[in-house]
Amino acid sequence: MTTQERIERSYEPGAYAAQARGWIETNLTDALRTDRATQEASLAEKIAFEAAQHEAGLVGITWPVEYGGHGLGLREHLEANREIGLSPMPNAVNSIGKELAGPIIMTVGRDDQKRDLLPKILKMENIWCQGFSEPGAGSDLVALRTRAEKTADGWKVNGQKIWTSGASKSQYCLLLARTGSADDRHKGLMLFAVPMESPGIDVREIVSIDGARSFCEVFFNNVMVAEENMLGAPDEGWAAASRVLSIERATNRMYRSWRFESEIDHLVAACRSDNRTYQILKGYSAEIAQARIAVENLKGHVETMVADLLNGQQIGPRGSLPKLYWSEAHQRWAQMAYEVTTRFPLDGGQALTDARARFETIYLASRAETIYAGTTEIQLDIISKRILNLKKAA
Ligand SMILES: Cc1cc2nc3c(=O)[nH]c(=O)nc-3n(C[C@H](O)[C@H](O)[C@H](O)COP(=O)(O)OP(=O)(O)OC[C@H]3O[C@@H](n4cnc5c(N)ncnc54)[C@H](O)[C@@H]3O)c2cc1C
Repeated sequence: MTTQERIERSYEPGAYAAQARGWIETNLTDALRTDRATQEASLAEKIAFEAAQHEAGLVGITWPVEYGGHGLGLREHLEANREIGLSPMPNAVNSIGKELAGPIIMTVGRDDQKRDLLPKILKMENIWCQGFSEPGAGSDLVALRTRAEKTADGWKVNGQKIWTSGASKSQYCLLLARTGSADDRHKGLMLFAVPMESPGIDVREIVSIDGARSFCEVFFNNVMVAEENMLGAPDEGWAAASRVLSIERATNRMYRSWRFESEIDHLVAACRSDNRTYQILKGYSAEIAQARIAVENLKGHVETMVADLLNGQQIGPRGSLPKLYWSEAHQRWAQMAYEVTTRFPLDGGQALTDARARFETIYLASRAETIYAGTTEIQLDIISKRILNLKKAA
């Protein structure tokens, strides 16, 4: 289906949002809501909820129908994401499958790979993790040393990945490995779809600051990967990964600006529930105003990029602008919001208990926001060199 055909299938403006809102209101249970201090939903419940979101048309919106998607346009994607952001829905378990592996497979995969792998991502049959970073290769990703060596039986992989989010619950790893010499840098890199149950893969969880066990180290010891699990042509790994990463940096978690907005609304509403707390909040009015301005700026970034993509324009390095702006502004907001909640009276009632729990989680998670998907310094480097065309000082 061409982009034009997808646009023609589009809904009336606002209709998709109304449908999404209705579905969320009916299906988001208390256990799943992130604005309640109650018991968190289990992994199985979150997986089922995510599969149901796909059925309801909130996920895979722009993916072609033949690969399990809904064959619609970015406008519907944006409408649904606004509603997702405005609700206290949990973050996706399979965001790497849907926002990174899926688009890469769509771009460089063979048709049989697309037909096999893509629907299983949307149905939550296959959760994916991203095996890019290594102990010696983060910002400088092309320093990676995990090797894939060609043998008569396929590719033999040896090496170590780190900070692999969700590896211990994943069925597949999107692996970036080196097939050439380490001196080749951008050349000789290849992407593979590696089944996590392959013999020789050892996953070790790392406990993070919030007590979560999402991060992992993944060791590959003589892991055999079938020829047919190569994604794209040899040497195409870097080009494919960077092309998709720039689009994804712009459109990933498109709901973020609206989630940010709903967090501000939540804090204000919680403080209003208790007069003592409301007096505390008044001391932060300048910071709240700054956060609201940041939200409006971010919405502008996202809406402009969606309009540009719909007009067939490339996003390229501009994807770094919303990533940098959101992560810095949201981290400042999260620190302030957490500070406010630490001043809540302990006898203030349930609304304050819920807000205290939520903003502590948000604050801890925000510490990583200026690191993952490329650190602040790396975004500044991209913006200065590739958008502003600034030269290095002599
Ligand atoms: C929550 C979270 C989830 C993640 N999930 C995944 C995942 O699923 N899969 C995966 O592969 N990786 C993942 N990562 C890893 C992430 O991509 C890396 O942490 C990131 O790229 C930075 O690399 P590094 O940690 O090696 O730090 P380094 O690259 O060593 O950077 C250390 C510091 O030096 C600065 N720096 C580095 N180079 C330059 C430069 N050229 N100019 C100026 N400053 C520089 C950086 O900005 C940073 O402040 C995750 C990270 C986090 C925090």
